[in-house]
Amino acid sequence: MKKYAEKHGFERGAPPGFQLTPSDSRYLCRSFLFLFVFFVVVNAVASRALMQLQINAGMSSLVRTNDNSYSMLDNWPSRTLGMRWPAPDKMALYSGPTGLVDSVYAVAWSSDRTQYVMDVVRIGAPFNTLEIKKTRITKDGLVIKSNPPIGTDPQLRWRPMGIIINPIIYTAAIWLLIGLIPVAVGATGRHLRYQSWARDELCPECRYDILDLPICPECGTPSHKAGCPDSLS
Ligand SMILES: [Zn+2]
Repeated sequence: MKKYAEKHGFERGAPPGFQLTPSDSRYLCRSFLFLFVFFVVVNAVASRALMQLQINAGMSSLVRTNDNSYSMLDNWPSRTLGMRWPAPDKMALYSGPTGLVDSVYAVAWSSDRTQYVMDVVRIGAPFNTLEIKKTRITKDGLVIKSNPPIGTDPQLRWRPMGIIINPIIYTAAIWLLIGLIPVAVGATGRHLRYQSWARDELCPECRYDILDLPICPECGTPSHKAGCPDSLS
């Protein structure tokens, strides 16, 4: 009579259960790292390329939208040179031809007639990866503070949140599909095989491995295989 373990390719003894195998762990680590590096590069390269398309198309290609779903609060300055920015009073949202670059123009006034203006073109979701940002504070028509300084062009600015957090979010989504779910399915299959092995090979009373003996050497319970010794072969 062939033992269950031999039939199913195990060495003698219990088959592996639900716990991760070393190759599972390696696969999970490597696939996460690979995806993360991949998305860091893709996120940065795609953001830069799409922003360049927007720059080439010109800022006049931005079209006013009424989409208020995209939060602008992470872009609104809290303070500039010790001056605290009041909450924006008005804002307008724009979208570029690609639909992936968008723009916010927002204005606030404080009670002393100081005007705060922010104009940002940005790309990246859920966090901004790259932006071109202009801020200006004026009072009675006089510029108090401007970034970039008047007469200079604003620079492209990389945003750490978008560079790091966006790839982590993309990685987690894909890793779930190609890493975590397949490994969990494999582990569940092993667990079911283990249960099936335990049902066939262990004493039903004391869980001792009774091998091919007719009765359990530990507690004397007759083996459930004793009546039909050839049924498993
Ligand atoms: Zn027993």
